[in-house]
Amino acid sequence: MKLRKVTAASAVVLALAVSATACGSDKKDSGSSGGGGSKKIAVGIKFDQPGLGQKTPQGYSGFDVDVAKYIAKKLGYNEDQIEWKESKSADRETMLQRGDVEFIAATYSITPEREKKVDFAGPYLLAHQDVLLRADDSSIKSPADLNNKRLCSVTGSTSAQNVKEKLAPKANLQQYPTYSACLTGLQNKAIDALTTDDSILAGYASQAQFKGKFKLGGFKMTNENYGIGVKKGSDLKAKINKALEDMVADGSWEKAVKANFGPANYQYEQAPKIGDIKS
Ligand code: GLU
Repeated sequence: MKLRKVTAASAVVLALAVSATACGSDKKDSGSSGGGGSKKIAVGIKFDQPGLGQKTPQGYSGFDVDVAKYIAKKLGYNEDQIEWKESKSADRETMLQRGDVEFIAATYSITPEREKKVDFAGPYLLAHQDVLLRADDSSIKSPADLNNKRLCSVTGSTSAQNVKEKLAPKANLQQYPTYSACLTGLQNKAIDALTTDDSILAGYASQAQFKGKFKLGGFKMTNENYGIGVKKGSDLKAKINKALEDMVADGSWEKAVKANFGPANYQYEQAPKIGDIKS
């Protein structure tokens, strides 16, 4: 993946209430093939990313959840026929390969490495890698400043890979299983920065309990083209591409980005065209 130069920096910490929980267990899977009737479809999402994929006592919410619901509907499944499964960054390819889920909508960047193992519909959102810092930290002003800092990212994410290979090879990279674990580390100063997509970081920064504590670097270090992961060779890819096109055309995409990214004031990019992957 080619990396774009830093063009602008901004520090935005918002104080809007988004409750976060990342616990609880899933219902047992009752099968995921076919459509309609009493059949279920198993769908992978994140459980701990406010604004994108979040499990709360009230249910599941976020942009990825809305995209997944829209797709499921087009495939013939109502909301109550969706079996939500947590697909952590490092587990996604395996879950698709094993058939644990029919598709994954989980801030899942399309990359050539992943395309060797799974197929992607989309893209349906363009995000950019950024950093989340403590609000009072003025020592990190550019990606190069991350060298020699304790940087947290999640195992199996492009963010961790990019840091190691390109962005800050001398950073002390700590890989945690989830972003919520990194967030705790940032809060109690076990780490200096959390790096992943700006879409995800904006969601964290805007949570009420973190009011005034964190800021985004605004570095726009990469292009992250979010795709819907499916099993390699699956005919779902074409059907999901059609559903994504419909979602943009009928205004549902715009409605979903506004509803889910509005609270975090995340400046989302326009809907990408299907197959238009930005390097
Ligand atoms: N979009 C990046 C990825 O797919 C980072 C976010 C994530 O880990 O889900 O790896």
